[in-house]
Amino acid sequence: MSNYKIQSPIDSRNAGIRNELLVLNILRTHGQMSQSGLCRQADLSSSTVSYIIGRLREKNLIIEEYGQSASRGAKPVLISINPTGRFVLGIEINPTDIFAGLFDFNCKLTESIRTTITAEQNIGEIVKLIEITARGLLSKHNITEKMTAGIGLAVSGSISKAGVVELSSPMGWKAVPLRAMLQERFDCPVSVHATRVRLLAEKIIDPTLTSQNILYLNVANGVGGHIISDGRLIHGTDNRSGEIGHIVIDANGPRCGCGHKGCLEAYISGPALAAKIRNDLTTADSQLVPMIAEGDLPTDVLAKWGQALKNNDAYALKLQKYVADKLTPIAATAINCYDPEVVILAGYVCMQCFDYLAEAIRRHIETDVFDNLSRQISIIPAKAGDKAIIIGTASAILREFAEPA
Ligand SMILES: [Zn+2]
Repeated sequence: MSNYKIQSPIDSRNAGIRNELLVLNILRTHGQMSQSGLCRQADLSSSTVSYIIGRLREKNLIIEEYGQSASRGAKPVLISINPTGRFVLGIEINPTDIFAGLFDFNCKLTESIRTTITAEQNIGEIVKLIEITARGLLSKHNITEKMTAGIGLAVSGSISKAGVVELSSPMGWKAVPLRAMLQERFDCPVSVHATRVRLLAEKIIDPTLTSQNILYLNVANGVGGHIISDGRLIHGTDNRSGEIGHIVIDANGPRCGCGHKGCLEAYISGPALAAKIRNDLTTADSQLVPMIAEGDLPTDVLAKWGQALKNNDAYALKLQKYVADKLTPIAATAINCYDPEVVILAGYVCMQCFDYLAEAIRRHIETDVFDNLSRQISIIPAKAGDKAIIIGTASAILREFAEPA
């Protein structure tokens, strides 16, 4: 027997589901395609693709229509994702609100809403609000749970693969079994995601971003590095991949929120920089002195810093160099580790001085990155904005969506 690897019925069923997922992801990336185009892209035989198309047709997940023929031959059948085949909810949980988006099967946003939460509300009350928000969006668009491919929640912090929020400093949560608490309320799959899914949103927002190797540096309330390596978003053993903010750059440095001393995050996160600005301005001469108000949030303080940078304020420029000096060696380290083709800079700190940081990282690539001469790394700003996490959560679900027959 030539085929020495015998498949069990379960193996072949799993292979079928994997192939359905493969075809759906190709269609979602490339748009409308002929069956022969799908065979080439998926590297599958014509009979296998015919079989998969049949299964996807039965599940109402694709649309088939006639295209234009180049000659007088038969018109080709073109296959595309059925946008209303299924729907997904992407929900970001913040200390001040629940931000929920309803997405179609092409990962296109249908509607988003924000529900305010207050510091007094306990986890039980917040779970109830998430349920109300999710049900409200689904019922407004007449979408049943059967038509819902998944409800994805994203929370900043350490999230176990089982969907337990092990630690979320912004929410003040420890060992909260969030997935289980919501799964018992819904008949469709519920999942909990780390905020690194926001990197996936960049690919949805910008379809020209086809690179399979991307490093995403986010400097905002926290500092993180997300990685797509060989096409896959890297999560790690315990879903903690990319914690570059907790690389210790000075063992005698300031205490970080994680408990260690001298982490990168303790220097250049938005809250750390806002505190530094307030402290420096007691002695420094800067146009920022009258601009910063008592009640300003870190985002406000950093936006005012961005204005002062545009006016070439000496203190603001000095702080820009301070951020670059701390961030760029770590960026170069990450580039050495992951060999990206694209580096995306994101977060409200990076956005104030993108050009300067990009240039500083470029200079560090020349001096600190192995074999830099043969690399072509582009450094670009993040584009997904405040919807990055809900889009990324929806995309994470759709990239893994496979439904038994
Ligand atoms: Zn830390």
